[in-house]
Amino acid sequence: MSEAKSFDILVAGGGMIGAALALGLSRQGWRVGLVEGSDHGTLVQAPHSVVAVEDFEPRVSAISVASQQLLEQLGVWAEVTAGRHCPYQTMTVWDGDGTGRIQFEAAELQAKALGTIVENRSIVRALFRALEHSAVELMEGAKITGCRRLSDGYTVELEDGQSLCAGLVVGCDGANSRLRQWVGLPTREWDYDQQAIVCTVRTTQSHRFTAWQRFSLTGPLAFLPLLTESGDEHFCSIVWSQDTREARRLMALGDREFSAQLERAIERELGAVEAVSSRFAFPLRQRHAKDYIAPGFALVGDAAHTIHPLAGQGANLGYGDVRALLDELARAKRAGLSPANDLALARYQRRRKGENLSMMAAMEGFKQLFGRDELSVRWLRNTGLRWLNQLGPVKNRIAAEAMGLNG
Ligand SMILES: Cc1cc2nc3c(=O)[nH]c(=O)nc-3n(C[C@H](O)[C@H](O)[C@H](O)COP(=O)(O)OP(=O)(O)OC[C@H]3O[C@@H](n4cnc5c(N)ncnc54)[C@H](O)[C@@H]3O)c2cc1C
Repeated sequence: MSEAKSFDILVAGGGMIGAALALGLSRQGWRVGLVEGSDHGTLVQAPHSVVAVEDFEPRVSAISVASQQLLEQLGVWAEVTAGRHCPYQTMTVWDGDGTGRIQFEAAELQAKALGTIVENRSIVRALFRALEHSAVELMEGAKITGCRRLSDGYTVELEDGQSLCAGLVVGCDGANSRLRQWVGLPTREWDYDQQAIVCTVRTTQSHRFTAWQRFSLTGPLAFLPLLTESGDEHFCSIVWSQDTREARRLMALGDREFSAQLERAIERELGAVEAVSSRFAFPLRQRHAKDYIAPGFALVGDAAHTIHPLAGQGANLGYGDVRALLDELARAKRAGLSPANDLALARYQRRRKGENLSMMAAMEGFKQLFGRDELSVRWLRNTGLRWLNQLGPVKNRIAAEAMGLNG
């Protein structure tokens, strides 16, 4: 058997979260390996001159100010924003089945923007470009097929028969994490019986640099503003979460009928929907690992928690995990400890579990509040939203939380 390659830390999964973690860890001086199943090196450059809805990637993220700061520290934000991105100054949330409405403004928080909408592939591409010039040993197109505990760390097997050893393995392999299963970390999960329909649209009116979110009994609809390099403000990425049966019906519609229903669902706030891209539907499931750590092992990002996309916080929570683990492992490095130090991992888990759980509980509360039709709940929604909208300090605190600035 060929001798296994060995690392201080092996990051398993190089999506938006794992790639950022690997880059940060290597800057701290650890010997880091990153294994990614697909070949991100071949990610196509986003087309420069957008002419059609199909030119955008359907998956985008609302990157919070805190996540932006992390990507700045990693030196990749300038590259991310050299391409298409759209800072938004306003967020409008309203109850489609009532009269409640709340509006958040960056200006009220003395901020330039509440966040930035970025296509996921722009972030991954910028991270991989930085990784190519880092000390990280990058293994792309390499699928992990197994993971076993050793007396001091783990051995990870790849599809091509290679074995890799590390003192600490970090599972960043997404919502259906195999690493989490192999290491035996159980989850609490529940199905929303909803699907998120994702696509890009062009509207006749400008999006006004606003993230729009309308709640209805069957689920929320978000219009997230996009901006082309030439400054065209008429494109939005939509995330339309609907009960499964309704989502299936919407997916089966022709483009013209789908656009008409979408236009009605957003109450024509942006005029008519004049073009719609191919649509994708994702089943929605909330999932939370009961523990994020085991000896010599940690979970980060969607592998540890997946939440409803209604507040666009999934990637931001993952970046919160990355920040906390980088802090704890920097401290371990300074103290001359192993990256698998139990106390460092326990501190990481303590810092993240509470915050992730409270965000998940808030999403669940929102979903319940807007998913019920009783008169008393409707009254609470409408009165509550109007009241909150007038309460500057409380409203600003909620906005700061969503921007990731209260941690
Ligand atoms: C419809 C929708 C809209 C969303 N909108 C937002 C938003 O606006 N804002 C926001 O913050 N979040 C949003 N999210 C959530 C966000 O997309 C996720 O939280 C984020 O992508 C998670 O990143 P990750 O790197 O943890 O996991 P992933 O992106 O799933 O990456 C996991 C990586 O691991 C690799 N991998 C998996 N298994 C193996 C293996 N066996 N071997 C090797 N490699 C492997 C995969 O190839 C992949 O690259 C949304 C989610 C959905 C579904």
